Amino acid sequence: MIRFENVTKRYRGTSRPALSAVDFEVQRGEFVFLVGASGSGKSSCLRLILREDVPTTGRVAVLGRDLRSLANRKVPYFRRHIGSVFQDFRLLPSKTVYQNVAFTLQVTGSSRGFIQQAVPEALALVGLDGKQKRMPHELSGGEQQRVAIARALVNRPQVLLADEPTGNLDPATSVDIMQLLARINAGGTTVLMATHEAAFVDQMQRRVIELRDGEMVRDEVHGGYGDTSNIPRLVPEEVRGAAAAAALTAVQEVQRQTADLSVVRAALAEELSAQRKAAAASSDAVPTASETPEAQAAPIEPPIADERPADAQAAVGPLTHPILLPQVDVAELGVADRLGLSDDGAEEVGPTS
Ligand code: ADP
Ligand code: MG
Repeated sequence: MIRFENVTKRYRGTSRPALSAVDFEVQRGEFVFLVGASGSGKSSCLRLILREDVPTTGRVAVLGRDLRSLANRKVPYFRRHIGSVFQDFRLLPSKTVYQNVAFTLQVTGSSRGFIQQAVPEALALVGLDGKQKRMPHELSGGEQQRVAIARALVNRPQVLLADEPTGNLDPATSVDIMQLLARINAGGTTVLMATHEAAFVDQMQRRVIELRDGEMVRDEVHGGYGDTSNIPRLVPEEVRGAAAAAALTAVQEVQRQTADLSVVRAALAEELSAQRKAAAASSDAVPTASETPEAQAAPIEPPIADERPADAQAAVGPLTHPILLPQVDVAELGVADRLGLSDDGAEEVGPTS
């Protein structure tokens, strides 16, 4: 499902490679932690999987595609099969919860019927049914991350990448988010989560790939985090007050998801100008008046084929089918004692079955 073959990544102007000879394979349905201190190369790995960057040497294959031979124009369609969430949520601040989840679907030309069904289902899945009309700033950090997760899942991706998704959240909220990710994984979605926070990794009892200075130093099927003495506790970034910075990141995120579609550019330009106006008006005013009409987008190219095997498609339905995840008892997933939900480690959940 995700394969790194002897991957080395050197950024221009740096002496030491960010990744050195990294080699691993993630199977369909796995939940994998990518751990390591800040700067160890976790985000670089995730960017290679999303084809936001390419290896200096070696090969990355995702969903059966060698990303080196994936044409640039196909990248946006490829990325629709991969959901991603980040530490800083990357929501559009002038759009409601519903609009944030619907936005990418709208600009990439999903039908109105699909959007009207898929968005509420994605929000219900993450436990936000009643909050569709809220603005991001009216939500807690944990709720904002749930919106981001709903947005990542609304297109039913086969893989969910999470880059320090709990990094801006308090411990209790982080546990909630971890439970949600475990439930998503139990529904058949492959999850790869980068983190430098030790506690969850020990408790989840899932595979752990550890990076140290760009080198893979560990790959354990049921790993704990190991020696945590050198891992600093995360200090939340001081970025959340900056409305303009948040708007820019949010726009970049949508841009990343939808890449080079010209219709997206137009929608983003409108969104950005609305946000600039809002940011200029006041740093904490609620920017509702300048909401832009949604882009009337048509699909420019049909989506890439659903390449999941027939059994997986049969199990979880075609890509256009609404999201339906089983209600999973988290205790059965090996999410352990500190969650207060389990008193023994449990069985692995098999892929998509
Ligand atoms: P992590 O996510 O584990 O904190 P990163 O993948 O972000 O690590 O970074 C790995 C290394 O690569 C770090 O030394 C970082 O400074 C460097 N790096 C990351 N992105 C770039 C870039 N665009 N240009 C130059 N160096 C980079
Ligand atoms: Mg990182």
